[in-house]
Amino acid sequence: MLENLKSRLAESVDFAALYGLLKAAPGGGLVHAPFALTPCPIDPAASRNLAELSLPFNRLAHAISGQIDFLAEALEEVVGADPFTRDLLEMARNCASTQQLYLQITRSDYFLQARQGLAAPVARQVELNTISASYPALAARVNLLHKHLLSDTPWEDALVANDPLPDIVEGFAQAFRMYGHQDACVVMVVQAGEANVFDQRILEQALHARHIPVVRLTLEAIAEQGSLREGHLTIGGRIAAITYFRAGYTPDDFRSPEAMQGRKLVESSSTIPVPNLATHLAGTKKVQQLLTQPATLRRFCEEHDAALMEACFAGMYSLDEAVAGPGGPLAARKAAAVQPERFVLKPQREGGGNNLYDEEMIARLAALGPGEDRTFVLMERITPIPHDAVMVLEGKASAGKCLSEIGRFGVLLANGKEILLNKDAGYLVRTKHHQVKEGGVSAGYGHLDSLIELPLEEAYRPV
Ligand code: ADP
Ligand code: MG
Repeated sequence: MLENLKSRLAESVDFAALYGLLKAAPGGGLVHAPFALTPCPIDPAASRNLAELSLPFNRLAHAISGQIDFLAEALEEVVGADPFTRDLLEMARNCASTQQLYLQITRSDYFLQARQGLAAPVARQVELNTISASYPALAARVNLLHKHLLSDTPWEDALVANDPLPDIVEGFAQAFRMYGHQDACVVMVVQAGEANVFDQRILEQALHARHIPVVRLTLEAIAEQGSLREGHLTIGGRIAAITYFRAGYTPDDFRSPEAMQGRKLVESSSTIPVPNLATHLAGTKKVQQLLTQPATLRRFCEEHDAALMEACFAGMYSLDEAVAGPGGPLAARKAAAVQPERFVLKPQREGGGNNLYDEEMIARLAALGPGEDRTFVLMERITPIPHDAVMVLEGKASAGKCLSEIGRFGVLLANGKEILLNKDAGYLVRTKHHQVKEGGVSAGYGHLDSLIELPLEEAYRPV
């Protein structure tokens, strides 16, 4: 397959553009989004297993979002030294809207890790993204590209078809209808100068096709142009039935006081925020770490769901927690200093580029200020199964040993506690060179990819 596809570089770049697999180029103009020319092989059983995890994780995030007291307790020590998380939590506690309609769009990310013998590999969750889960549209476009490239080849039927948008759009459409104002709109909260604009525009186009207008605004623009009218968030005379965040997950989005005002305005109105602040906070690394404690997880789900989810958890620890070290139990921070290759150090941040590894991790751990240690968690480092792939960045191909991170999109619609819709909506694959630690596509490390189901013996053999 690899050899077959290598010769089709120029064609693949043309078709990438044709299918809208694009991003804004740094100096202006357009460039194709990075993609893998060769789809990522996966064992069929592992592929099914990942899809089955979405519904429990959707239910879990929804259940936690109703428990602001749990979130406050979970983040109590983090907020002492992390002003961003503190501000989000404070807003979540103070601006509680009375809106019962709830829409959740998530993406749960995994690596597949080898198991001894020939049994299917195990899924290990990297994180659950509860805000700005990106690439639902471009994931479908790269799948079209692979469908084209593999047509009339022996691998055609093995490609796993992927289009996360219809289920996501259905979630929006049902929530929009239930909000009950037909001339309302969806506000998409965006960053100024967003490079990944086509992923957002394709969703916008799909919503338009369902007669749902979309207004793109930064948080600052919401503060400037928005107002509360009878509880509704109103922009230019139009009610925002849903406010969908593709920004607001990083302190960089809150540099001005107006941005914070915009976020508060959304949360204190009756618009359906996707996500609301509690759901956003349910996706923090600290909460993820606490959920690896069996009793904590079981506060939010039934045993069946808990067992399914626990099977994919990697070890996560607060810095002072005891973990197995070379000569017996050690505080996690000490174990990380002695065996850095076993761990990743994570602050409470989203969007890539924030984690620390190896020497940087050791240096950061040694330099932690008072209380700062509470803002980090240590996570067991996952070693995913490598595969050979060809990746294309700005028209140039490079071949090599790669790692793929697979995300599953989830859509959940609820009215208060009552779940009305809970779906797995398809997948995202991001493939990176095996020596690259971070996986972000926007940051230029990850390449959009598709899955191809091959029997286990073939799936992880160099193709
Ligand atoms: P962010 O919220 O910034 O996306 P993630 O937890 O997803 O943070 O980590 C970013 C990237 O770091 C991931 O895409 C993955 O490539 C890598 N990574 C994260 N956790 C681990 C881990 N436990 N083992 C190995 N790599 C990891
Ligand atoms: Mg991530």
